[in-house]
Amino acid sequence: MLWLLASCEQPRQIHLLSGETMGTTWSVKVVDLPAGVTLTSVREDIELLLESINRQMSTYRPDSDISRFNQAEAGSWQILPADFWRVIRYSLQLAEDTDGAFDPTVGPLVNLWGFGPDPKRDKPPLAAELEAVQARIGYQRLSWRDADQALLQPGGAYVDLSAVAKGYAVDKVADLLIGLGVENLLVEIGGELRAHGAKPAGQPWKVAIEKPLPGVREVAHILAMKDIAIATSGDYRNYFQAGERRYSHIIDPRSGYPVDHQVVSVSVLHPRCAEADALATALTVMGAEEGMVWAEARQLAVLFMVQSGSTVEEFASSAFRRLVTEEAMP
Ligand code: AMP
Ligand code: MG
Repeated sequence: MLWLLASCEQPRQIHLLSGETMGTTWSVKVVDLPAGVTLTSVREDIELLLESINRQMSTYRPDSDISRFNQAEAGSWQILPADFWRVIRYSLQLAEDTDGAFDPTVGPLVNLWGFGPDPKRDKPPLAAELEAVQARIGYQRLSWRDADQALLQPGGAYVDLSAVAKGYAVDKVADLLIGLGVENLLVEIGGELRAHGAKPAGQPWKVAIEKPLPGVREVAHILAMKDIAIATSGDYRNYFQAGERRYSHIIDPRSGYPVDHQVVSVSVLHPRCAEADALATALTVMGAEEGMVWAEARQLAVLFMVQSGSTVEEFASSAFRRLVTEEAMP
């Protein structure tokens, strides 16, 4: 009497929650909720958390803490709230480690190229406009004070944390759920993702990396994700076209121009999604050759997809290959 059995034993279910944040969507999957925790209360907690992150780090909100810093008077110290502080400190560290390929002060360039809160554009800015903005760029312009978690506005610095904020928010949501006693979960914001535990019957969470081929949706890899995060950057997602050229939303802060090489996407696996997110952006700026050497030196699990004529070639770091072959058979 199978159906009786089935009706006695509640099958374990995957609960799905989703919504919108940071100009994109979020989704959360959880298996089993601890006693006293309801889906409604989880949703409320997640929404409050995301709201608090946006209030700190959204450059799209004129009254956010980041906008307050960006508009602050030259020479003034601004005390930062905890999340903003953590993200800017990590970003400045990564800026140093990447020699400025990743740079949280890239904001004025992002805006000038039409990828920030300013209106979009359909042709590149003038050389004079670029030159005027360059004086405001440079992570070395920022000083901080650990004692009271304050950042100095040197004048005209405009911080943009969009390359890391989504991943950071994924971590915060995952930590919130773990703190509530949820053991099996998948958190995703705008394609950046972190997984813990497993699905109901104990199978791992699985994530597909697509081959970014025009017109076709082909799966390049299926990754089994256990207690790990993945983030992807690339110019196929957000760009504008002027004549023959595609202008990416990822800017090389050293030249002032959008990255212009054959990297279609970079995916990074890391225990924390903030790091995966920031590193994916940093490696996109570096390009496949320099980026792979840099990633190998740090034992990072990364996968580059590079346009080669009409096909896309893959380059995986040794840590990525190890993770994929050991844990990730489809
Ligand atoms: P992501 O989608 O995570 O790669 O982040 C891209 C976003 O990060 C862009 O839309 C910009 O707001 C910002 N950004 C662009 N170039 C850089 C850079 N070189 N370093 C840090 N942030 C950047
Ligand atoms: Mg990123």
